[in-house]
Amino acid sequence: MPRRRPGPRSGSGSRSSDREPARRSEQVEQAADGDWVVRAITGAATGKTYRCPGCDQEIRPGTPHVVTWPAYPRDSDLDPWDTESSADWRRHWHTACWRSRSNRR
Ligand SMILES: [Zn+2]
Repeated sequence: MPRRRPGPRSGSGSRSSDREPARRSEQVEQAADGDWVVRAITGAATGKTYRCPGCDQEIRPGTPHVVTWPAYPRDSDLDPWDTESSADWRRHWHTACWRSRSNRR
């Protein structure tokens, strides 16, 4: 473990992240077709273009959007999806398209 160089207030500013309340970018939304985990993507970390299933338009790199996948298996109420199997169900949506999807029947 590297030793920290002693200095005046060397840790200044490093605690700012500790101050923030636990901020989760994922939440579970209940919809007519089941529970969905929705993760907000800022877009800054993405370098790929996705296709939104809501409007069939591209989501360009750098565009804030959401990723969703089923929180639970559709046909059973046994176990939640494990991470790997739910990855197959991941879909990238425009945030607005995902919202309007919920309102649409
Ligand atoms: Zn869309």
